[in-house]
Amino acid sequence: MTTEDRQASGRLDLPESEWRERLGDQEFRVLRREATERPFTSALNHECRSGIFLCAGCGAELFRSDAKFDSGTGWPSFFEPIAGAVDTRRDFKLIVPRTEYHCTRCGGHQGHVFSDGPAPTGLRYCNNGVALRFRPAPECEPTRANPPGGEE
Ligand SMILES: [Zn+2]
Repeated sequence: MTTEDRQASGRLDLPESEWRERLGDQEFRVLRREATERPFTSALNHECRSGIFLCAGCGAELFRSDAKFDSGTGWPSFFEPIAGAVDTRRDFKLIVPRTEYHCTRCGGHQGHVFSDGPAPTGLRYCNNGVALRFRPAPECEPTRANPPGGEE
């Protein structure tokens, strides 16, 4: 049974031991232990192609590339998730409460949401890059060179 098969039935609820097997060490610490990756370490900071950002835990579609912006924080940042893709929860780990958010499907921790984002939402979803995968839109695939008048 593949991950995609399980997704079709709704939520992906796995025991910790299985998450440990599926995920890399850093992925596990972020997604299942709410660790935060060091800033400016994710290649996705610079990902500017159009496409979809997926949960690294279960493959759920979380953010569209057109909601991504450069926050300068060193973490991939978005002003809006795909509807219903993430759930939020108050987090009191630091002195100032933050709003944690996680993948609705598998519960994997993604990041924190702050209210200093750009229009139209004014929100900043500050996401751990290691908790995401990027899937480029089909039109980003290299197309075969087919210049006009190529027969000459
Ligand atoms: Zn997930």
